Amino acid sequence: MSELLRVEHLTKIFRSGLVGGFEIRAVDDVSFTVGKGEIVSLVGESGSGKTTVGKLILRLIKPTSGRILFEGRDLLEMSKRELRQNYYRQVQAVFQDPFASFNPLHEIDRAFDLVFRSFFPDVSRDEREEMIDDALRQVGLNPAEVRGKYPHQLSGGQLQRILIARALLVRPKLLIADEAVSMLDASTRIDVLNLLGDFRDRYGTSVLFVTHDLALGYYISDSTIIMYRGTIVEMGDTEKVFHNPLHPYTKMLLESVPDLNVKWEFRGIEPEKEERGIYEIAGCRYAPRCPRAMEACWKSRPGLHEVEKNHWVACHLHGGG
Ligand code: SF4
Repeated sequence: MSELLRVEHLTKIFRSGLVGGFEIRAVDDVSFTVGKGEIVSLVGESGSGKTTVGKLILRLIKPTSGRILFEGRDLLEMSKRELRQNYYRQVQAVFQDPFASFNPLHEIDRAFDLVFRSFFPDVSRDEREEMIDDALRQVGLNPAEVRGKYPHQLSGGQLQRILIARALLVRPKLLIADEAVSMLDASTRIDVLNLLGDFRDRYGTSVLFVTHDLALGYYISDSTIIMYRGTIVEMGDTEKVFHNPLHPYTKMLLESVPDLNVKWEFRGIEPEKEERGIYEIAGCRYAPRCPRAMEACWKSRPGLHEVEKNHWVACHLHGGG
């Protein structure tokens, strides 16, 4: 599978402006790739840094250090014009709350305005109508039932499908879906996941699926990345990560869940209740919670080590020294 996106040593530090302030390394030396036509789940609890990674790839925020290469081009070297005209045509996003993405005072058709202004300024009115209808049909909606409606007249599932239709209208090469199904009911959730898989199969669209729900990640993805407090602790082929977990954190998560087909969410410590000092530990950030922690774990940060083909773990128990 050829490479589409490469993230190299990506780091984002947030600094509090207060006197005696502190730093949070929300993303700390994160590297991974997304192949063409690949679905990659970026899985983590609240405070893991997964959403920050998504925002960095969308250039909504700038990294403190590191590089993001899209088809070999460094994002930081792209001008605003290039980002607008080229990059955002190739990389689209769908976020968590479909209701927040629509203006409640406008008919849902208006949600397509920006896409047409930005990427299809020259199409005729008739062509535009046809393209919108076609996009809606592709996500399983009947245009006659949703067009001309206001957001409150439609369900969350219908609205999320409209947003996916809008994102996929430009045939992006990469779709970033950040908690894109977490507000939907269980059956709609699976429908939307199947839709993403279907688009990958039909058009080769890669998907970065950002989620806190491990079961959804398992259901949809070819590869899985598990994040913990800004770092990647384990990643690789989804089957290997879920059926041969090696990092104590991944193991702990999986041992607490008997069946991958049930809805399964993190029940970790809320970050605000956790001491900020976790970001200052020189060694492994999981050491305060790890039952296998050794002296070395507190002193040096384990790097990602390939333990078998397409399976990496960051842990001193598995050669991550
Ligand atoms: Fe536990 Fe040490 Fe491995 Fe971290 S490096 S997960 S503390 S054994």
